[in-house]
Amino acid sequence: MKTYLGLGSNLGDKKVNIDTAIRKIAVVVGDVLRRSDYCVSAPWGFESEHDFVNVVICVETALQPFELLRQLQKIEKELGREQKSAGGVYTDRIIDIDILMYGDLVIDLPELKVPHPHMKERDFVMKPLNEILG
Ligand code: AMP
Repeated sequence: MKTYLGLGSNLGDKKVNIDTAIRKIAVVVGDVLRRSDYCVSAPWGFESEHDFVNVVICVETALQPFELLRQLQKIEKELGREQKSAGGVYTDRIIDIDILMYGDLVIDLPELKVPHPHMKERDFVMKPLNEILG
């Protein structure tokens, strides 16, 4: 299945964090077919002096959606991400990996919503996504 993942980092060496996550994704999730350029954006939904670097990738995966989510959360932890966003409260983060789309599957559960519900209103997702869809 083709899945589109959105990666973001606004702490530490952001490009290195994203590249490291992508390398880990290639090992445990599947072949990375396409990757966007780095896209720099201001924090969305919270105040911070740290801008984000964002990348969108397309991966061919044999993992089922919830297994995919679990593996991505493991990679976030391995990279040193400590806290999850809860109740719509966002903070600075070393790495954030979102499942934007999983084929054309629609899931609407609290733990997993695909297509990602906020992606259309986020330029830092849509710009790199359009770049690799195009
Ligand atoms: P985060 O933005 O990484 O802090 O994720 C917060 C929560 O969003 C996680 O606990 C996930 O279970 C949930 N979640 C819902 N839909 C998605 C999605 N499409 N991709 C990643 N996490 C999701």
